[in-house]
Amino acid sequence: MAMHELGLAVELIAMAEERGGAARIQRLVVEIGALALVVPDALRFAFEVASHGTCAEGAILEVVEVPGRARCRGCGAAVTLDRPFGRCGCGGCDLAIESGSELRLREMEVM
Ligand SMILES: [Zn+2]
Repeated sequence: MAMHELGLAVELIAMAEERGGAARIQRLVVEIGALALVVPDALRFAFEVASHGTCAEGAILEVVEVPGRARCRGCGAAVTLDRPFGRCGCGGCDLAIESGSELRLREMEVM
């Protein structure tokens, strides 16, 4: 199991427990930026392991990938990215990344 995903799963469970108090968590929907380089299946597996004995044990984890966004320093155009680098339509590749590496808890259902 990748340590990256395990760390994120632990962080995610902490976020969910903070939001839900001691309520039993049934379902979680998380948004993950494409630039976070997370493998959704690896995250789901890590979540299963890390949630043992927590309020999130047995919860369904839904992963929604959101694209990254950057701005071209050359022409100022917005560029959508699915990896941490890319090229603007103007040919420039000097991009300022604005979002896409975040992990966000979008929705949560408790019993
Ligand atoms: Zn450009």
